[in-house]
Amino acid sequence: MCIAAMLYMKIDILTIFPSMFNGPLTESLIGRALRSGILEIETVDIRSFSKDKHLKVDDKPFGGGPGMVMKVGPLLDAITSVGVRRKNKSYKNFHSKPYVIYMSPQGKKLDTAMVKELSKFKHLVILCGHYEGVDERIINYVDCEVSIGDYVLTGGEIPAMVLIDSVARMLPGVVKKEKSVKNDSFYNGMLDYPHYTRPAIFKRYSVPNVLLSGNHKEIQKWREEQSAKRTRERRPDLIKDVLE
Ligand code: SAM
Repeated sequence: MCIAAMLYMKIDILTIFPSMFNGPLTESLIGRALRSGILEIETVDIRSFSKDKHLKVDDKPFGGGPGMVMKVGPLLDAITSVGVRRKNKSYKNFHSKPYVIYMSPQGKKLDTAMVKELSKFKHLVILCGHYEGVDERIINYVDCEVSIGDYVLTGGEIPAMVLIDSVARMLPGVVKKEKSVKNDSFYNGMLDYPHYTRPAIFKRYSVPNVLLSGNHKEIQKWREEQSAKRTRERRPDLIKDVLE
């Protein structure tokens, strides 16, 4: 018997380069989640809302200066086209409201706490900027600006892929073994322990004996120690966060 998977999340991506998402979001675990119906992802071409015969969605900045700015009109039309209404609709609860995210280097930095929070929403709408960015007035229609780090990329598509990949793996059934997500780095504020697979000896490097012992209690103890050691050595800031 084939049981249809439950749809946990719908994601609409507003972009001027929809084809960039072919591949990164159709392969591997995310691709499988899409095929099984756990996740639904649609791309919306912002250019289809252009009023210009050349489908332009950018214009020169008021006040002069280099670069172009994405126009507020087509951006708002794209946002409303996916069912976002500003005030005229009441939702069952906070997480059932479409949540509009603008990918921006000036936003709140993406981390595991934010990924966990975003994974509770039923509908994410992700706006990808380009050029110098978006006309600031569109921020009135955005719930949250999210950055993937303190550097600037040419567009919001790769940041959107990073966000989607990290959020999607929190959804039930995307990663088959839920425990594997919970053991991953950052989930509980620590880095993951080191992993090994066959062969047991490779050139002059062998696998730690305890992992070959079959003693699950000892293996668990070793892994916890390794996780703590790595976190202390590589990311002491995380230990501070756990203790605080
Ligand atoms: N002038 C903008 C600034 O300095 O803040 C940068 C614009 S950037 C060239 C074009 C677009 O790429 C942005 O609108 C945003 O959507 C995306 N982007 C670039 N870097 C990003 C980052 N670190 N995180 C999230 N989005 C980013």
